[in-house]
Amino acid sequence: MKNIKLAVVGATGVVGRTVLKVLEEKKLPISKYEFFASKRSAGTKVTFLNKEYIIQELTTSSFDSGFDFAIFCAGSDVSKIFAPIAVSKGCIVIDNSSYFRIDTSVPLIVPEVNAEEINNHHGIIANPNCSTIQAVVALKPLDTAYNIKRIVYSTYQAVSGAGYKGITDLKNGILDFEKGEANYELQKFPQPIFSNCLPHIDVFLENGYTKEEEKMINETRKILKRPDLRITATTVRVPVFNSHSESINVEFEKDFSIDDLVNCLKNAPGIVLKDDTKNEVYPTTLDTNNQDKVFVGRVRRDYSINSGINLWVVADNVRKGAASNAVQILEKLLI
Ligand code: NAP
Repeated sequence: MKNIKLAVVGATGVVGRTVLKVLEEKKLPISKYEFFASKRSAGTKVTFLNKEYIIQELTTSSFDSGFDFAIFCAGSDVSKIFAPIAVSKGCIVIDNSSYFRIDTSVPLIVPEVNAEEINNHHGIIANPNCSTIQAVVALKPLDTAYNIKRIVYSTYQAVSGAGYKGITDLKNGILDFEKGEANYELQKFPQPIFSNCLPHIDVFLENGYTKEEEKMINETRKILKRPDLRITATTVRVPVFNSHSESINVEFEKDFSIDDLVNCLKNAPGIVLKDDTKNEVYPTTLDTNNQDKVFVGRVRRDYSINSGINLWVVADNVRKGAASNAVQILEKLLI
């Protein structure tokens, strides 16, 4: 078998570190790894599979030595410039940034939903937005069974979704609260996140939506192959360290029995149904951390419309929402 060589770009960030963790767990048939970040972290060391690696600065010649695959986790500005360079040197890129997601020539993949599209790539495969990934894992089996007519997303997103600076803002807010002070400098968010909720993720657009809301709408349409699907979204950052929660209201073309619909979710790939309100059982961020499944609960009929439901969907945004989804795509490419 060919010796496979993999690069991880942005290996020191929240997603990059988790990619390394997931790769260690999976033990894939890869014989050589190299890890890249910016100048800031170049030269620092990371232990991976019991071996010490030096983080290298990403430059335009980083891919000259020839890589089979690269997982990019360093943001859109880096992907825009360096992913095409990697591809030009024969490397297949799995990109966590939003830069290529809506490009019609780039597959946008959630393996449980549209794995069959992976091989349509021309060198770049995009990993969807974290809040979109967990939503479509839950929605795909319902769309297949009942034909979705409209979706209303309301999200409650953890600070880890904003990278290490987002986590630092919440930690500093907690420390200040404990000291009875309020003088830390925010690194990521426009307003304090501790003891607060910000209906503001990514930048505001001309139409009043945020870019995060637009990403959820456009990416859902692309992944479900429903370009005209009616979708609206409100995305909110909450003071939770990890795992995103989503309230999803769905209207269907077809009617359903709630028992059949629950069974449909129970039997779908990648979903853990945690729904027993009589015993106060439902998914929470704490019990989904460090897992790769999408947890679904509070499944109930929406009595305000003819055929609709409400769902509560929770998943680890750094694992299933980014790192594990990217490594799942890599596993498919390695087959
Ligand atoms: P992060 O914690 O801020 O980490 C950013 C990483 O990018 C660091 O390793 C940083 O290296 C590296 N980097 C920055 N500028 C660079 C440059 N010029 N050249 C090479 N490396 C550079 O961010 P993150 O949360 O891991 O997010 C990474 C990407 O994944 C983003 O596109 C984000 O939108 C996407 N994503 C994140 C999540 C999530 O839940 N966090 C989910 C889905 C998708 P240094 O250590 O040198 O600064």
